[in-house]
Amino acid sequence: MSRKPIIAGNWKMFKTVSEAQSFFSEVKGKAEVEGVESVICAPFTALPALVEAAKGTNIAIGAQNLHFEDNGAFTGEISGVMLADLGVKYVIIGHSERRAYFAESDEIVNKKTHAAFKHGLTPIVCVGEKLEEREADQTKEVCKVQTEAAFQGLSAEQAAQVVIAYEPIWAIGTGKSSTAADAEDVIAYIRGIVAGLYGEATANAVRIQYGGSVKPNNVTEYLGQANIDGALVGGASLEPASYIALVEGAK
Ligand code: PGA
Repeated sequence: MSRKPIIAGNWKMFKTVSEAQSFFSEVKGKAEVEGVESVICAPFTALPALVEAAKGTNIAIGAQNLHFEDNGAFTGEISGVMLADLGVKYVIIGHSERRAYFAESDEIVNKKTHAAFKHGLTPIVCVGEKLEEREADQTKEVCKVQTEAAFQGLSAEQAAQVVIAYEPIWAIGTGKSSTAADAEDVIAYIRGIVAGLYGEATANAVRIQYGGSVKPNNVTEYLGQANIDGALVGGASLEPASYIALVEGAK
C-alpha cells in the first residue's frame, strides 16, 4: 500500500493578500514535486488570490478552519459551502491552537469533519497531547480519544480520505520536536486505532502526518518512518525557500 506523502504548510495568522501572492509566485513550479502532495493552508482573506494563483499548478490550497453549519447567524464564521465555492480543497480541523484558544471540543471537531466531507473538502484533523499528558504517560490515550471522536459517524470511504496530523502540543512552535522514532510509535498506534474502527484496508489508506517543529533539515527523517506520510508545518512553511525544501525533502 503506497500512500502519497503530503506536506501541508499551516500559515496560521500570517500573510496579507499581497504577501501570499508574492510567496506563491516564488514557490510555483518549485514546491511541486512528482509524487508529493503540496498544500498551503492560508488565512481566509488570502484564499481567493491563492486559489486563482494555484490554477494549473500541483499546489492545493487549504483553509485553517470552517464552521460546521452551511450558513446562519454565526457572526464572523466561514462555512464549508463558502470554501468549496472558492475552490479550496483542504481544511485543517481541530488544530491545538483552536482547541486551546477557541474552545474547540472533540464534538465540534467531529461536526467540522462531517461538514468538510459534505462539501468535498479533505479534512486534515489534528490530534496530540499536551506536555503534562506526555509526562503522565497519557499520550496514546489522548490520541485515541481524539481520533475516535473525530471519526465518529464517518463511513469507511470517508475515513480513508482523512488526513490525520499528529502534533504533540509541546512541540508546536517551540523548536522541540518529537524524535522520529517517538513520532512513528504514536502514529503507528493511531493507525491501529483507525484499523480498530474500520479495518486494515482503511487504516492503510489513511495518511498520517507528523507536526511540531518540522524543518527542512528533519523532514526527511520523519518521512522515512514507515507510518509517517507527511508533515503539517507552521513556522518553516512561511518562507518560500524553506517551503520548497520541505516539499523536496518529502520525495
Ligand atoms: P510549527 O507548527 O511547525 O511552527 O511547530 C506546526 C503546527 O502548528 O501545525
